[in-house]
Amino acid sequence: MPRPKFDKAVFQAALDRQWQRYGLAGAQEMTAFQWWQAVSAAVNESIVPPSAQPGDNKKILRHVNYLSMEFLLGRLTGNNLINLGGYDTVKRVLEAYQVSLADILEYEVDPALGNGGLGRLVACYMDSMATVGQPAIGYGLNYQYGLFRQTFAEGQQWESPDDWHRETYPWFRHNAALNVEVGFGGKLVKDGQGGSRWEPAFSLIGEAWDLPVVGFGNGAVLPLRLWQATHPHPFNLALFNDGKFLKAERDGIDAAKLTKVLYPNDNHQEGKQLRLMQQYFQCACAVTDILRRHHLAGRSLETLPDYEVIQLNDTHPAIAIPEMLRVLLDQHRLTWDEVWLITSRTFAYTNHTLMPEALECWDEKLLQTLLPRHFAIIRHINDRLRVLVEQRWPGDNAVWRRLAVVQDKQVRMANLCVVCGFAVNGVAALHSELVKSDLFPEYYQLWPRKFHNVTNGITPRRWLKQCNPALAGLIDETIGKGWITRLERLTALASYADDAAFRACFQQIKYDNKRRLADKIHQMTGIVVDPQAMFDVQIKRLHEYKRQHLNLLHILSLYRRLRDNPDLDIVPRVFLFGAKAAPGYALAKNIIYAINQVAHKINNDRKINDRLQVIFMPDYRVTLAEWMIPAADLSEQISTAGKEASGTGNMKLALNGALTIGTLDGANVEIAEQVGEENIFIFGHTVSQVKALLADGYKPEQDKALKGLLADLASGSYSFKDKHAFELLLHSLQKGGDPYLVLADFAAYCRAQQQVDALYRRPDDWTRSAVLNTARVGFFSSDRAIRDYQQRIWQAKR
Ligand SMILES: *Cc1c(COP(=O)(O)O)cnc(C)c1O
Repeated sequence: MPRPKFDKAVFQAALDRQWQRYGLAGAQEMTAFQWWQAVSAAVNESIVPPSAQPGDNKKILRHVNYLSMEFLLGRLTGNNLINLGGYDTVKRVLEAYQVSLADILEYEVDPALGNGGLGRLVACYMDSMATVGQPAIGYGLNYQYGLFRQTFAEGQQWESPDDWHRETYPWFRHNAALNVEVGFGGKLVKDGQGGSRWEPAFSLIGEAWDLPVVGFGNGAVLPLRLWQATHPHPFNLALFNDGKFLKAERDGIDAAKLTKVLYPNDNHQEGKQLRLMQQYFQCACAVTDILRRHHLAGRSLETLPDYEVIQLNDTHPAIAIPEMLRVLLDQHRLTWDEVWLITSRTFAYTNHTLMPEALECWDEKLLQTLLPRHFAIIRHINDRLRVLVEQRWPGDNAVWRRLAVVQDKQVRMANLCVVCGFAVNGVAALHSELVKSDLFPEYYQLWPRKFHNVTNGITPRRWLKQCNPALAGLIDETIGKGWITRLERLTALASYADDAAFRACFQQIKYDNKRRLADKIHQMTGIVVDPQAMFDVQIKRLHEYKRQHLNLLHILSLYRRLRDNPDLDIVPRVFLFGAKAAPGYALAKNIIYAINQVAHKINNDRKINDRLQVIFMPDYRVTLAEWMIPAADLSEQISTAGKEASGTGNMKLALNGALTIGTLDGANVEIAEQVGEENIFIFGHTVSQVKALLADGYKPEQDKALKGLLADLASGSYSFKDKHAFELLLHSLQKGGDPYLVLADFAAYCRAQQQVDALYRRPDDWTRSAVLNTARVGFFSSDRAIRDYQQRIWQAKR
């Protein structure tokens, strides 16, 4: 593959045009922020448009349409420059103006159009599809406000709107010719041919705002097409005003509201009307766009599955299925058998969770009111499914109740996806087994060949080359640069684990990264931490199943031991957290509050704070992850077994030489297989032990030590004498029945932490393990994951 050179002359010419846009006389008048905008816009201009690219794939690959309600991108400018191979060139061009590229890149606000792992995954996949030459487009929404900004006030989470200034974001490309009109509400009317036609009450316009996703070193660019809602043409206003639906619901849902803000829930469904409208809006725009492209290529509708795949990132875009059926039936006048054949060979579904509260169910009435035609189509799918299930399990109503798409006045989107798609996949080996055995056992009996595993991956470009340039440089020097696109080549590092000189370099880089992070911590929180201490890191959304409160209990137990014995010789640790709680998730917010209050007490305890510190970094997001991950010694992956579908934070941390303490959950299982059990700290109940415990009617038990810790929390000594401060947290662990088995895993967790300490006291052995972690996690590259999708799902023989 030819490696296109970043063209300095083209960039310089584009840069020279930028200050005119601000009405300035010259470069020297620009602010640092304007420099970031100018550089980004200039690079954006110099990227070759996708259509003009030389095809680097001889075989015809099905084109992938990745539909996701979330894209958690992180900053684009630095990443695009690295992938274009233009970073050093631009750095030198700017030096002539006495401008530091690294400094101006800090002015970019993260486009945070996602909540957590699910949104970040598809961002990594876009990078990898561009890099491995998989033709693709990402479809999402252009939210005006991304995931809320988090600050702490007296230890409590505060949320404020995340205005990332999409109006002036320099990477957007907008093409008004791609506008789509999307209808809502209204009714079905007889069409005189025995069918019915949908008359929406009102419609909105979807505008296409594209961001370029740049492949690494191959000149490929994939569009990420984000739809933005605007007002329709004035003549629609009459229908809009007429719509009974609107009167019934609320006055004037105006267009801009639709893509105003991302819903801030992770692994939880809320069932709100506006959310369903967002989902449908995105799907309708995407389906129109896909069919338009297919038509433009001069292809007939029957051949759609030969050229296009639609990959659904969880069930959030599942309404695209009935939308495709509707368009083919009502607009293109195909028969049911024809449209079913096309649709059922086009859609594939990725499942991201088994947790009931996250499985999307829409109220029948809501769906029928907002999308009457789609509801009728879903009913029809359900009726046909019923015939099939009756043949296979005659008279078995219990099976039908589990398999039905429409049941108890709810529409179950996961069932819709399994029934209508050609492939279903889980996101780690363990999770994919549980999808078959626990979530969809009867569907698996019906269609065993639909079910697949694709273990998640992360892009080595952002999560090693960009975030940890020193380690990337050491690897380049040691084994060459091939790892950047062939991450499995990191195995060549394994033999250096026994090389003392290499280990010293590796250790020095970790130490330097910790010093850098210590500076950031000081800037952000005013607290001085010791980079010699172990950096123990838990960064991920705040959720009961992720068990940040298990980590907290361990901190409390250490603190207790130190208070009982102030001269106790323990390994000094800095416990670092980063996590946002959904604004409506009271228990999660209470856990944040508890961690902050315990942190406050410990950090101000002079007898102890030379060995124990606790820092909750505010506003966890991709950029903060890029600062924290290279500095981590220990990676906390301690979810209740069976609850974390995969995790990807675990992969990022291991790649950067952190050792994992974790349960046998999600991708931790595969990480343990890859790095070897002597290089990871595994503890706690396994999935089958969790099941057995719960089946026997689990009652949380407390030994004396645990009782003391919980009593401490309840005493008010961490909360200015307020004995109710941590009521929600304490209730969940005690009277609430400890649903995530925090207490059941506590003792094993503490024992594993002692093994962590013991190894950390032997720096050579610790570093040897850390090197082996980096060397052996090449499997978790998102390039490998994309090739798995190609082989098993997208390009599989049908
Ligand atoms: C990787 C990542 C996640 C996912 O973390 P998990 O530990 O897998 O839950 C969430 N948020 C951000 C910002 C990330 O970069």
